[in-house]
Amino acid sequence: MTARLALPALAATLVLGLLAPPATATPRTAPAVGPPTPHTKVALAEGYGGAVATVDLDATRAGIDVLRRGGNAMDAAIAAAATLGVTEPYSAGPAGGGFIVYYDAKRKKVTTIDGRETAPAAMTETSLQEDGKPIPFDEAVTSGLSAGVPGTIAQWELALRRYGTFSLKRALQPAIKVAERGFVVDQTFHDMTAQNADRFADFTSTAELFLPGGAPPAVGSVFRNPDLAATYRELGRRGTSWLYGGRLGEEIVATVQNPPVAPGADRKVRPGLMTLDDLRAYRAVERPPVKVAYRGMDVYGMAPPSSGGSTVGEALNILESLPQIGLHEYLEASRLAFADRNAYVGDADTVDVPLAELLSDAFAKERACLIGSVAMPHPAAPGEPDGDYEPCPAARPGAETPPAAEGPETSHLVTADRWGNVAAYTITIESTGGNGIVVPGRGFLLNNELTDFTFGPAPGDPNLPGPGKRPRSSMAPTIVVDDGRPILAVGSPGGSTIITTVLQILINRYEFGMSLPRAVAAPRATQRNTAATLAEPAFLEAYGDALRARGHVLEPTEEIGAVTALELLDRGRIRAVAEPTRRGGGSAAVLIRRNAD
Ligand code: GLU
Repeated sequence: MTARLALPALAATLVLGLLAPPATATPRTAPAVGPPTPHTKVALAEGYGGAVATVDLDATRAGIDVLRRGGNAMDAAIAAAATLGVTEPYSAGPAGGGFIVYYDAKRKKVTTIDGRETAPAAMTETSLQEDGKPIPFDEAVTSGLSAGVPGTIAQWELALRRYGTFSLKRALQPAIKVAERGFVVDQTFHDMTAQNADRFADFTSTAELFLPGGAPPAVGSVFRNPDLAATYRELGRRGTSWLYGGRLGEEIVATVQNPPVAPGADRKVRPGLMTLDDLRAYRAVERPPVKVAYRGMDVYGMAPPSSGGSTVGEALNILESLPQIGLHEYLEASRLAFADRNAYVGDADTVDVPLAELLSDAFAKERACLIGSVAMPHPAAPGEPDGDYEPCPAARPGAETPPAAEGPETSHLVTADRWGNVAAYTITIESTGGNGIVVPGRGFLLNNELTDFTFGPAPGDPNLPGPGKRPRSSMAPTIVVDDGRPILAVGSPGGSTIITTVLQILINRYEFGMSLPRAVAAPRATQRNTAATLAEPAFLEAYGDALRARGHVLEPTEEIGAVTALELLDRGRIRAVAEPTRRGGGSAAVLIRRNAD
């Protein structure tokens, strides 16, 4: 995120540039323009040989550097993610989790690597309750109790072993360099630190790292993290068992069980339940993706424990069975898909998730039938994905569900290589700043992913905590395949708005015919079976009146999501896309740049 907001003139140029019509003419084989390593942050890059898009210039450069050294898309994804752990430590890091959706060109198949955090073995259905009531959310976030068993390092190791060509040690090198050399603090990093300053000050280890001299690092100063450099180096040298049962694991457990609360802090900090055995038991898992057929293409997403793939997929199925698709239909399909997500999706390793039915065309038709010319009454009731479908059932009244308590942070990246492999990877420590607790001397924050569980009491809820269970996620790394060839990869942070952001981009691209940069830049709205649809100001401006006239309740929200995406065009040409302005703009790059035609 180097100098993210320090270059307003450049950002303005990027935005204006994106408003120009996209390049569509036949590619020319013009000579490379400029050096292949990106030196400035741009939101759109086109060329050949591979591509990377992340929210951050250093992370994108790390990915491009790996591609240049002969690494593949998986190697580049892991190197970029590890670098995000340095430059975006409040969104990503070695003690978090995430999901990778990967197109493996050799086997011509899409697979996924699940690095979701797990609940400790001691966690039960009532662990996030007190006296039969949910623990206050804020209190749960900043605690040892919310820390899930970290999945990221095991995920990197598994992903590289199965699909990469680099060792973990090698993939960590770019991140180590950035952590040692440091990066320039921009406004976003400063603001995120300031926003967390109260709770960071309450933990000695966190204050020491992120509040040097007692205050957030100044914009323009260089932030170094030698502790994290050393942690990555040791992980590379000793292997993942150093964390999953070894010395680093012991330190994580000690921090979770006995958080380093600063003298004088009057915060109630609940200790966590994690033990070294929980770390020993952790496994990243390769899982089949979820897949829906949509407009003759195959859309691949993340299976449970994420609700990303199934909810995007169900909404696409609903939309496909409608005679016409506009923004009203987008909001209504999303509302219905969220009603079903909330009722039926949890960790499929511990609860029954009727995934095949949720993604069946017959179920989608039954649900689509509820969509009329005006917004349906709130809340929508879940459907019955039981295999027995009526042509058009009467609408049932729904029950109000408490608003999802998910944080707005996380990071998404995409990579592609010269062999045709593609990665879509969403990485998170849940809230901005995770649980606020740095493992002393190790340079990284712990996650608070267990706050993604339903706190309860909520009898029958598929997302209640349980021993070893993975909390339901909304992360939705997505790859679109056409005629056996990957054509697009996309994803976003944003808690449950991730799902609607990915859905809206797919619709912008494939229903409304926008170019990918336009589809990403277009104003967003999110309907998640909530009373009001949240919408960005530009969305309200453009479509508010028309949608209100159709019964939609719209409320403004500053910004939704922070997308990265790429598109594989003809003859090996790749278009990498990041946000032009949201979250200060992202960084897209290709290995070999050619003039846009
Ligand atoms: N913890 C969230 C999830 O798994 C992601 C974090 C976020 O983007 O808010 O859905």
